[in-house]
Amino acid sequence: MHTVELGGRSIPVGKIVCIGRNYAEHIKELGNKTPDKPVIFMKPATAIVASGGTIIIPAYSNDCHHEIELAVLIGKEARGVTPEEALAHVAGYAVALDLTLRDVQNVQKEKGLPWEIAKAFDTSCPLSAFVPAAEVADPQSLQLRLVVNGQVRQDGNTRDMMRTTAQLIAAVSAYFTLEEGDVLLTGTPAGVGRICSGDRLEAAIEQVGTLTVTVA
Ligand code: MG
Repeated sequence: MHTVELGGRSIPVGKIVCIGRNYAEHIKELGNKTPDKPVIFMKPATAIVASGGTIIIPAYSNDCHHEIELAVLIGKEARGVTPEEALAHVAGYAVALDLTLRDVQNVQKEKGLPWEIAKAFDTSCPLSAFVPAAEVADPQSLQLRLVVNGQVRQDGNTRDMMRTTAQLIAAVSAYFTLEEGDVLLTGTPAGVGRICSGDRLEAAIEQVGTLTVTVA
């Protein structure tokens, strides 16, 4: 059973639902089109690695990218909720990395195939401890910053999300039920790039926390 920490408690994780293409500048840097509906994919709980852990890049890729993202922990079942109701279903927030095998993903995209082999591998979801939702004043006003080997790679703000956290929960809950212990990743700002063996990644989101991992 894979668990996450919330205010000192250990919570079993269900599914990890991820949102792609939610920041305009990141859509531009990858040459993608702006989606008219949220781009949704999933990672299994086996993808989680806690802060202090090690990322293992699969041998079938030569281009693993970092994507810093605000993670949301669902605390109460959400099914067909409105954006106005959505945040009442949030238990906490954390710092996440949506690690992506960009070379593998590009092949899958070209062929119109699912992304899981590029997105859902073991250790593809480094995740910090969660802070209780009540400690975060406004999830749409948080600076996100990723530093690799001492160099700033990503420096964005959740105010630049195209769909807010509340809108994303509502949209996802129209397709499937979100349960207590599910995690939602809300997309990455611009600045994604390659990580290599030996790299040290330090991710931080203001009011939320920090996450440090190294690449094997
Ligand atoms: Mg992402």
